[in-house]
Amino acid sequence: MHLAIYEARPDVFAVVHAHPPAATGFAVAHRPLPVAGLAEMVGVVGPVPLVRYRMPGSRALAVAVAQRLRGVDAVLLANHGALTVGASCAAAANLMESLEQCARILVTAHILGGVTELGRSDVLALGRSRSVAATPGVRRSANRRSRRS
Ligand SMILES: [Zn+2]
Repeated sequence: MHLAIYEARPDVFAVVHAHPPAATGFAVAHRPLPVAGLAEMVGVVGPVPLVRYRMPGSRALAVAVAQRLRGVDAVLLANHGALTVGASCAAAANLMESLEQCARILVTAHILGGVTELGRSDVLALGRSRSVAATPGVRRSANRRSRRS
């Protein structure tokens, strides 16, 4: 699965796959994370599509995950776990931490009566800040710096 991702995403230099309880809960429930419910979801994590269940370790799962990672850096694996990617191990691991933190907050909001989503203009402003941070030029520059040090 990791190799399929590296082949599909030349901007990716690290993959983190884990089974964090809250994010995996969304994957088990086949419930999407409400991106507009939390500033960190929009500005840091971004959309997190659900990849339909396939046998862990199978080629079918590898292909499906690599395909779903086009344009996003995190996916939920149905009935299994979560996966994040990044330009470095730290970036991918930090994204997994943010994903789990957001999932915990969104579950708490659900328990307290439901998620109140941000307005469209706020989502667009946060999305722009995420896009700037995630542009390939920015990633490559950061990666070159880390390789030199
Ligand atoms: Zn797993």
